[in-house]
Amino acid sequence: MFSYRHAFHAGNHADVLKHLTLVATLRHLMRKDSPLTMIDTHAGAGIYRLDAEAAQTSGEALAGIARLAPPNAGDSAPNSATARSRQAPDAIVSEYDALTDYLALLAGFNRTGASGGPWRVYPGSPLLMHALMTEPARAAVHDRLRLFELHPTDAQALQAHIAQLDAGRQVGMARQDGFAALKALLPPPASGSGSRRALVLIDPSYEIKSDYAKVAGAVQDALRRFATGVYLVWYPIIPRPEAHTLPRRLRTLAQQAERAWLQATLAVGAAPGSNGLSASGMFVINPPHTLAAALRSALPRVQQALARGPQASWSVDTGD
Ligand code: SAM
Repeated sequence: MFSYRHAFHAGNHADVLKHLTLVATLRHLMRKDSPLTMIDTHAGAGIYRLDAEAAQTSGEALAGIARLAPPNAGDSAPNSATARSRQAPDAIVSEYDALTDYLALLAGFNRTGASGGPWRVYPGSPLLMHALMTEPARAAVHDRLRLFELHPTDAQALQAHIAQLDAGRQVGMARQDGFAALKALLPPPASGSGSRRALVLIDPSYEIKSDYAKVAGAVQDALRRFATGVYLVWYPIIPRPEAHTLPRRLRTLAQQAERAWLQATLAVGAAPGSNGLSASGMFVINPPHTLAAALRSALPRVQQALARGPQASWSVDTGD
């Protein structure tokens, strides 16, 4: 049914943009002590081996996350972001550094001991969300994570990875259409204090052309059900009318619902001799007020590390 397998793409430039945005958004939402419902409509397998055949064949992680992590990453906190913190402590001591945070999270999945070595695994969105909700400072809040994945092999892998987490009812997973499942989960349940909070990640592979319209339809419906939810949509930047139109449709939906929005893009430039994906975007409805500044600080460094040519660029636009 589906030929897309995220194992070939895990840790590529699109994942870096998506997960950097996701982590920065969640960090802000988790400052508040009331439970959050996180929904990942297109979850993938959960975690990926970077030394497996799929990743090695595509080389996408090598051109992506591997350029942000030092070759002998080991246990150490990574790279240029950390170097930047060290260079200018006074300037950024109180400033949240989204890139450092994201890379430190990845390092936590790649504890290779004193000998170091390149990172061997890349956590997908489900495992990143789970890592954040179970950090010692957050665990007592009891956030909920709901995951949906349709591909039989990836759904099975995701289920196995979730079972290993021993997370109980806080984490639920179903081999189900994420677009349809979302309807039943919004609005999220109220906490003891009566507040309802949800973050929804919509991250299809857009393998089927109808996914573009389904994303817009799902966001429209979700805003009707729960206007204050935080919605994150990843989309490819490719020469295809539906792909071009999607962020404009999302902007219109946000404006019609009178919700704030943020659009971030990252282009790394075309790889020589390849027509693979070279740019993508994240559209966020109801973004935390800190997100634009966090991405404007992180993306220039990401672009610098991942650029494959002079066409590399980044952008962050916002609207109320
Ligand atoms: N969100 C994941 C991450 O960031 O680690 C990556 C997800 S990948 C881009 C998209 C996934 O959606 C694929 O694994 C694909 O099998 C799955 N998929 C495709 N259509 C779906 C649907 N209607 N409902 C749920 N999953 C679907």
